[in-house]
Amino acid sequence: MRKIGIIICARYKDCGGGKCFKSFRNREGAFSIYPKDEEIELVGYSTCGGCPGGNVEYVPEEMIKNGADTIHLATGLVVGYPPCPYIADFKEFIEKKYRVKVVVGTHPIPLKYLNVHKSLPHWDKMDMPGLAPDLFKDNEAMMKIYD
Ligand code: SF4
Repeated sequence: MRKIGIIICARYKDCGGGKCFKSFRNREGAFSIYPKDEEIELVGYSTCGGCPGGNVEYVPEEMIKNGADTIHLATGLVVGYPPCPYIADFKEFIEKKYRVKVVVGTHPIPLKYLNVHKSLPHWDKMDMPGLAPDLFKDNEAMMKIYD
């Protein structure tokens, strides 16, 4: 049993989580790393607390107390405009301090967002495929479903 916590970007704090929960259920996007025969459970869901992400310092502890062994940074950090500049810092910090795995991404990248980001210079500078490799395994048909 894999137990998972999700941290979303606080800019989307009112988000109902529809895309994240759908992809969790269907093992799509970054959740495709879990084989369909492996049970997964969501044990925590919170925001970063707002720029520069103060809640990231504390909220993993609560998730881990509830059994989390893996924390996903939501796809909104990757495809919001501008993308969160702290993705790599958050991943490194949580993995070093809390010794749990951090995966960048939740639901597939919506294709319409990807197309805009690819036309802008920050995308290559941030090396998003390097930061969030599990999101770039999806093909365009899958991304289109999440538009
Ligand atoms: S951009 Fe980053 S630090 Fe700012 S609110 Fe979003 S996730 Fe938090």
